[in-house]
Amino acid sequence: MPPIDDSKLLEGLTNSQLEAVTHLDGPMLVVAGAGSGKTRVVTRRLAWLLRQGVWPEQILAMTFTNKAAREMRQRVQELSGKQPRNLGTFHGCCARFLRFDIEKADFGRSRDYSIYDDSEQLAVLKNCLKDLSLDNKSINPRELAQLISKSKNQLLDFAEMLEQQPYCPHPELLLRLYRNYENKMRQLNALDFDDLLYLVVKLLQNDPALLEMYRHRLQYLLVDEYQDTNHLQYKMVRLIGGQRANIHVTGDPDQSIYSWRGADYRNIMDFVRDYPQAKVVKLEQNYRSTQNILEVANSLISRNQVRIDKNLFTENEAGAPVECHQVADGQAEAQWVLNKARELQAQGQALRDIAVLYRTNNQAREIEEALIHANLPYQIMGGLRFYERKEIKDFIAFLRLKANPRDEMALKRVLTCLKTGIGPKTLQDLLNQADKENLDILGFLAERLPLLPCCAGKGKRAAQMREFSQWCQGLRELEDESLGTLCRAVFDLSGLHDAIEQQYDKIQAEERLQNLDSLLSRVQVFTQENPEGDLVDFLQDLSLVSDVDKHDPEANSIVLMTLHSSKGLEFPFIIIAGVEEGLLPHNNSIHDPAGFEEERRLFYVGITRAKKAVFLLYCRSRCIFGKWDNNRQPSQFLDELPNRKNCYKPAKQHNQENYHKYQPSWKMQNDESLQNQDMDELPTIIED
Ligand code: ATP
Ligand code: MG
Repeated sequence: MPPIDDSKLLEGLTNSQLEAVTHLDGPMLVVAGAGSGKTRVVTRRLAWLLRQGVWPEQILAMTFTNKAAREMRQRVQELSGKQPRNLGTFHGCCARFLRFDIEKADFGRSRDYSIYDDSEQLAVLKNCLKDLSLDNKSINPRELAQLISKSKNQLLDFAEMLEQQPYCPHPELLLRLYRNYENKMRQLNALDFDDLLYLVVKLLQNDPALLEMYRHRLQYLLVDEYQDTNHLQYKMVRLIGGQRANIHVTGDPDQSIYSWRGADYRNIMDFVRDYPQAKVVKLEQNYRSTQNILEVANSLISRNQVRIDKNLFTENEAGAPVECHQVADGQAEAQWVLNKARELQAQGQALRDIAVLYRTNNQAREIEEALIHANLPYQIMGGLRFYERKEIKDFIAFLRLKANPRDEMALKRVLTCLKTGIGPKTLQDLLNQADKENLDILGFLAERLPLLPCCAGKGKRAAQMREFSQWCQGLRELEDESLGTLCRAVFDLSGLHDAIEQQYDKIQAEERLQNLDSLLSRVQVFTQENPEGDLVDFLQDLSLVSDVDKHDPEANSIVLMTLHSSKGLEFPFIIIAGVEEGLLPHNNSIHDPAGFEEERRLFYVGITRAKKAVFLLYCRSRCIFGKWDNNRQPSQFLDELPNRKNCYKPAKQHNQENYHKYQPSWKMQNDESLQNQDMDELPTIIED
């Protein structure tokens, strides 16, 4: 490795950025607009602390996505030659803490616990409903999941939280279901996503000695995108930060877009109240976007009532005006995207420099189809994720059962794959017996099953059961020197290869086997990055993969993702599709002032991802839920962008010096069918 050059560490930083990077001890808030270098500051500060002699174990740094964490780790390594140990998402860091400490509390889980995703959590809830002879209509399991999540995120006792609900039809029943759910999850040795944070906070709240240890060990805390922390995350930062409060948080309240997941931007607004001694650094220069883009973004966000006014400027070039195009319908929109991509490509731009953003995942379908048809490579974040594919879930179930022999959900999947003939009723009997004998289910199947009457005799069924019991024993005994060979051995034992070949035609089977192969390759990558990591760590890593983590910046393909997923990222060219009433702002938020302002922030996030150009599209007609709406209205937010014909208002928020430095940027265009008409004859959809 080349020697570390200390001058690089502080190179290319403005005075304010430098001040934030080299701040010594005590709380600090870096609050700044989009593209002003907040993430750069966190990265440099991490490297700076390490170069100052702070140990990699002493820093806890939290980012919003694994992808951001990975990029940060790499950069910090280049700048400092060291790797921070605790750098990841809140969930990832908490999962790691719980691996060490979950057994210190009476949570009924051991360190090899499984992490259940939303669909698995839902399956457990459905089982709980079934146990009480309820169906999904009497109590909606999704709503129940939301209530459970809400109570954990607000650190409230479930009963207490129910009392606070404005309307709650069956509180006793819900409480019973909640308790059954928690018991079941304990039995399974499983945690849902919220548990990861919730249990860490509980652990630290209930165990002062352990809290002291954490405070001693984690002397520096850094949090990027602090505006999107929820109450639990806030609590965790406060607990670990303690009196010393070496807490460095960065964020932009104007980019808070996750309130529907419990994020509360008051956390950042109240930082100075929480830490009156905090140093506050404002970054006001945007380095990402052109003047035109920034002007449009600034003007848009200034319409929000609940916000602190910022003075964000750029010295970048004026650039091309932000363009707005009306198109006929979803297909025309997709065609527009395609044409623009080709045009940019012909100008020598790389496809990876173009991102198409939209409000809801289903808007991607038509765009995807057009790109497939035209053979233009693209990567899509969201949709059916790699880890949601059947064969991948099947294989992961085998790995999970190996790692957590109490994981009954994994066992159910394994039973289906192996075609053991063990149905739900027999399984339930076996689970009950295992429970009575206080054995994990895998151990029970391996050791006790052969002793049961169902395994005795010469019949086919008995032979099948004995064989399955041996299989379970085989899985328990698998032990290999490396994670890679262990996963390979589990794969061989699973029989998935042959099962897939038998079940699907050649092409489909090949595709599925290739997917499995890439999962096995993923093990190799994981091992390189985490030489100490075991199977439990690997599974944890898989459970916490999120949509944007898939984004491969090396691949030369157009990127498709939701506006939410685009947070923190940047691309030279941004196309935002469906800038229409009902989509952006979304119908769900139109009547709620707070939700409405959040929609505006979402649009702001989308626009500020762009470095060079922004294209906004809206349709005249669109098929929504299978019904044609031929009277789509452009988003009212378009009306708020400056210099638009008929609605340019030099409002007072534009009186800052920087807003006047450049010329009106708004240029309205429309699709080809309208191209020859005079601007004044356009069907002006937004009128003053
Ligand atoms: P967001 O609000 O979108 O999260 P941010 O405030 O985190 O943005 P960064 O992503 O850190 O901003 O930086 C935006 C862009 O500006 C990046 O490409 C970064 O490299 C560049 N940048 C930041 N600071 C400087 C600087 N002092 N000189 C040159 N470029 C800079
Ligand atoms: Mg950032």
